[in-house]
Amino acid sequence: MAGEKILVIDDSRQIADYLTEVILKEAGYHTLAAYRAREGLKAFRQATPDLVLLDAQLPDLHGLEVLRTIVSESPQTPVILMTAFGSESLAVDAFRIGARDYLIKPIEAATVLRAVERALTETRLRQDKQQLTAHLERQIQRLSVLSRVGQEVTSLLDLDTLLTRIVEASVYLTRAEEGFLMLLDERTDELILRAGKNLGDKSAILMRVPVSDTLVGSVVRKGQPERLSGSSAQRDFKLKTGYFVRALLHVPIRLKGRVIGVLSVDQQTSRRGFSQEDEASLLALADYAAIAIENARLYQALQSHALELERAYAELKEVDRMKSEFMQNVSHELRTPLVFIRAYLDLLLEGELGPLADEQKNSLRIVVAKAEALASLVNQITTFHGVKSGMAEMEPVQLAQIAQAALDGARQAAHRAGIELHCEFPPDLPPVWGDARQLGQVFDNLLSNAIKFSPNGGDIWVRLHDDKATGMVIAEVQDQGIGIPADQHERIFERFYQVDGTTTRKFGGTGLGLAIVRDIVEMHDGQVWVESEPGKGSTFFVAIPQAEASAPSSTGKEKDAQPSSSPD
Ligand code: ADP
Repeated sequence: MAGEKILVIDDSRQIADYLTEVILKEAGYHTLAAYRAREGLKAFRQATPDLVLLDAQLPDLHGLEVLRTIVSESPQTPVILMTAFGSESLAVDAFRIGARDYLIKPIEAATVLRAVERALTETRLRQDKQQLTAHLERQIQRLSVLSRVGQEVTSLLDLDTLLTRIVEASVYLTRAEEGFLMLLDERTDELILRAGKNLGDKSAILMRVPVSDTLVGSVVRKGQPERLSGSSAQRDFKLKTGYFVRALLHVPIRLKGRVIGVLSVDQQTSRRGFSQEDEASLLALADYAAIAIENARLYQALQSHALELERAYAELKEVDRMKSEFMQNVSHELRTPLVFIRAYLDLLLEGELGPLADEQKNSLRIVVAKAEALASLVNQITTFHGVKSGMAEMEPVQLAQIAQAALDGARQAAHRAGIELHCEFPPDLPPVWGDARQLGQVFDNLLSNAIKFSPNGGDIWVRLHDDKATGMVIAEVQDQGIGIPADQHERIFERFYQVDGTTTRKFGGTGLGLAIVRDIVEMHDGQVWVESEPGKGSTFFVAIPQAEASAPSSTGKEKDAQPSSSPD
């Protein structure tokens, strides 16, 4: 590949001209000749040739001196020394100073061309390598800037900061003088400035730019980048926005196929235009901008949902508080008159207010039963509400102690019904994580049902055992009562559900007892179920997780169990 510029310095005009005008020119090189050393150095400085053919014997300065000057001023330029007398020491000196080759006159055309081509090939290879290295360095720099921006897009939440970073990276990567990012306002069909770099007074001009009739707007309209330099950019850009630029590059910011804005860089004074590579960098940054905008939108939506949820939760809590207050008031308002009614009925029944006929007494007894049922309903409803609103004080507690207290409480009712209570509590039962009052309610309700639905003279067993496989303590309440049909085993835990035949009139009850049991057990992350056969009896099972397995820390007040295995 010829075409390079070669300077021949030789005091023999004949040789110099022969080399420049005939041999080298014909081979496709550009040439120039000098016939004196000083003249040659001047030409070298002015023309900056790619190669010098230098005669060793010049009248005004020795060739080696000229060589030394050229090498010191431009070490990359190859110099081939020519001499009429072959001298080994001259050749050694020439190579030491930095000559690329050494030719002895008379020189054949082919020899000169070979030497020239060899030296220039070396230069070309070196230049290629330098260019390649520079290109690679630019690519690495570009990728590292892009990857840094990419990381920021996923880690920074503030949209304005992110968009400013993106514009800064755009200016840096494209070596532009200024840059800006505008987002489309679809309602007004205008582009609104969101971030800028080195804009100065131009910020005001770019604050709002119509999409129609502007160059930057045409990027939105066409969805294509605009890359202009020279007069076309000056004309167009001045025309629409009132300021001059020498080169500009606008790229669309796309989100889900729609153009939502424009990312731009320009040169106001520099003549450096923008390359295809700059366009690719800017398009990548525009993608980052789109991701950042979408992230910000999603984040905002998420935040407003969270706010809505928070508001709804606060409202719910308020409703719950009002419900609690209402329940407390209602139960108080009902309980107090019920106590009075009960007291007066007792006075009446005991004849304190005058003698009563048997028929009157029987009627009064029915009224007493009704008043008792009403009092029990009030109690059950308030308990149910207490469980529902999660008013629990959780701590490690011993089920044996709780079950024992419930058995003690049920003794009188059992005695009246001619029923014997038994218990089986193994020693060393682990504590469970629970609310002692609420777990007591579970045993109260199960025992009261067992007594209520058992014939006179039956037995009731309360058993506890440690189920190591599941990490639960399991309680059983077993009776020999009327039993429950299999298809009702699930339904009996529903609120106000009562099995046909176990009517209120016969057994009393509200249909809330087992619903309360289920709620309390579930609140303790436990399980409740029944095994039963009509006519043979029922066993209710309650499984509650051990304190170690379920508590955040099981330190604290563990109460000692009172194990016993004898009939109660
Ligand atoms: P109630 O106040 O009616 O006892 P529960 O919710 O405690 O309400 O029980 C619901 C129904 O489940 C009872 O009405 C009864 O039909 C049935 N039931 C509960 N426990 C037993 C039991 N131990 N034996 C037979 N039936 C039972």
